[in-house]
Amino acid sequence: MLLRHTTAKEIDRKALTVNPAKTCQPVGAMYAALGLHGCLPHSHGSQGCCSYHRSALTRHFKEPVMAATSSFSEGSSVFGGSSNLVSAIETIFTVYNPDVVAVHTTCLSETIGDDLTQIVSKAHEDGLVPEGKKVIFCNTPSYVGTHVTGYSNQVAAFVKFFSTATPKKKNVINLAAGWMEPSDMREIKRLAQEMEARIILFPDMSGVLDAPLTGKFEMYPKGGVTQAQLIATGDSKFTIGLGAYSTEDACVKLENKCKVKFEVVEIPVGLKATDRFITSLSRHANVPVPDSITEERGRLVDLIADNSKYFYGKRVALYGDPDTLIPLTEFLLTLDMKPVYIVTGTSGKHFDESMQALLSEKVPEAKYKSGPNADMFQLHQWIKQEPVDLLIGNTYGKYIARDENIPFVRLGFPIVDRAGHNYFPNVGYVGATNLAIKILEKVLDHFDSNCKEEKVEWQM
Ligand code: SF4
Repeated sequence: MLLRHTTAKEIDRKALTVNPAKTCQPVGAMYAALGLHGCLPHSHGSQGCCSYHRSALTRHFKEPVMAATSSFSEGSSVFGGSSNLVSAIETIFTVYNPDVVAVHTTCLSETIGDDLTQIVSKAHEDGLVPEGKKVIFCNTPSYVGTHVTGYSNQVAAFVKFFSTATPKKKNVINLAAGWMEPSDMREIKRLAQEMEARIILFPDMSGVLDAPLTGKFEMYPKGGVTQAQLIATGDSKFTIGLGAYSTEDACVKLENKCKVKFEVVEIPVGLKATDRFITSLSRHANVPVPDSITEERGRLVDLIADNSKYFYGKRVALYGDPDTLIPLTEFLLTLDMKPVYIVTGTSGKHFDESMQALLSEKVPEAKYKSGPNADMFQLHQWIKQEPVDLLIGNTYGKYIARDENIPFVRLGFPIVDRAGHNYFPNVGYVGATNLAIKILEKVLDHFDSNCKEEKVEWQM
């Protein structure tokens, strides 16, 4: 197979990353921009960058992802892309008629030093932004950070360009959504509705990247947070950020700009992270937790108890984004599994500190690594040194799973070789139940396929 030359022996590497556990900033900015209704993301750089970002999202969501590009040529690469962007803004409003254009930069335009504030002002001065339309922007230089950083920058830009405080605060809770699937966002909204909590979820990709096939092309599907809702986030009484890496920056900006206090909790993946989210929402929205949600929790606990012997002690390797990996690691511990190797390409102290707190006592032998040098090659080497019973991560892990004959649960971004991940949630108690069942099925299928014939049982 492709990775058959990976050896167990590690050589100290400082300047080489092999199969990084991340992708580039604009992918995240583009994804977050699609969570605003009527918004067309715009990539300020070369066509190649934009094509890559669009195809990364299209392949994952199996939906056509629309975005425009400044189409840098040799000239703009040397002298700057100001005139390209100004004429792109004119063309976009004339031809595609979005409500908002969300511009993000790329490595090239950042290296040149294009000043988006000045360029967008020029477009306004030239009368190229029609009345009632908006051009927003954020910087996403991809030689630092990852797709998660780009996502965070775009969410923070929503606050910068929209959130407005009036003298009257409303009994509404902002939920700043970390990088999740559209199905997860739908589930978060369902939970809030069950609790009768008034919320504004932003961004919101449900109804955009999981829209039904109707036979009619919609350039801007009906989903997404609206501009009016984004403006109103400045009048909400509290913000809950879901995932520190994706949303803390936006939460801080909203507090500074509109005096809306905030708390950042983990994305509600697993039992305990969902408990914390539900508790936080209940407390800040001042609403009780209904029996229907308590029952969902009970069904999850029942599933875990019924199948504990299959989960117990299984060694797991996982990789992906820190906002998912932290609560996922906690959930695996809740299942009595052993997360032994964890890798994320996104840097940050919070990941290392969270892993230390979660694993130092329960799985002291665990290895974890974050940042640009944390790659899947090293994860594979760790697996070669001491094998695992389960691998969890995006599509890139399939090579390791095949080479090492490890059951493989696909979770994260991108998943390009399977369907359905954007339809069924992984968050909340229902999502945790889905996830636990996926894990169970993979582990048991692997056992049935690999055990001795006399060990194959007809029932659990
Ligand atoms: S890493 Fe930079 S050059 Fe490459 S696709 Fe991303 S933005 Fe473009």
